[in-house]
Amino acid sequence: MIQMNNVVKKYPNGVVASNGITVDIRQGEFVYVVGPSGAGKSTFIKLMYREEKATSGDVIVNGINLTTLKQSRIPRMRRQLGVVFQDFKLLPRLTVYENVAFAMEVIEEQPKKIRQRVLEVLDLVGLKHKARMLPSELSGGEQQRIAIARSIVNMPKVVIADEPTGNLDPETSWEIMSIFEEINARGTTIVMATHNREIVNTIRRRVIAIEGGMIARDEYGGDYGYEG
Ligand code: ADP
Ligand code: ADP
Repeated sequence: MIQMNNVVKKYPNGVVASNGITVDIRQGEFVYVVGPSGAGKSTFIKLMYREEKATSGDVIVNGINLTTLKQSRIPRMRRQLGVVFQDFKLLPRLTVYENVAFAMEVIEEQPKKIRQRVLEVLDLVGLKHKARMLPSELSGGEQQRIAIARSIVNMPKVVIADEPTGNLDPETSWEIMSIFEEINARGTTIVMATHNREIVNTIRRRVIAIEGGMIARDEYGGDYGYEG
């Protein structure tokens, strides 16, 4: 599903944020990406949806080589992925319903299909009854649920999440995790960067630890492994 072969990412300022990463993530896996601040977790994740382009090496997602992908093909490729951010990134002037529907409208789905699917994913995240509200009327946890609904509305094979519980209290974080678990149980691959030790040590999954732009550890059922 996601393969990286000896991937190097050097930013224009000379910082090498990925320093020879080779990894293979298979369909249906649930992977935590952990490591100290500045280790290169976000860069690793951004390489997967071509927010950053590798300086050398191959990044292959869903059979598409992102390193050689033409600029014009990026939007089409992105639609096959779901991406969830720490700060939600919802559109503030659109309602909950519209925020989720928007992702389907851009691919010109039939209106009837959009309505059906949007209500289905809002139901999955438990917020169908708030479809008419604006993001600002929702709690942080609710906004993140909407962002997750948006990420899965086009049925991607992979959902990539960068610290999705980073702005949420512990209880809300657990609720968000149960939604990711449900999505994974339905077959979607999940790659999640996180600093949440409690979650990683309780919901045991594959753990990829990044340090100094390299994979320091890659263990199925591994623990978080850092202090603080
Ligand atoms: P993490 O997510 O683990 O905190 P990042 O991938 O954000 O790590 O950053 C890894 C390194 O790359 C850090 O030294 C960071 O300062 C640097 N870095 C990240 N983004 C950029 C950028 N756009 N330009 C220059 N340096 C960057
Ligand atoms: P939290 O439990 O995360 O602190 P809030 O106290 O922000 O959540 O919100 C509690 C409930 O009230 C949520 O269901 C939220 O959707 C609703 N709510 C909060 N602010 C508004 C608002 N301005 N208009 C309508 N509903 C709101």
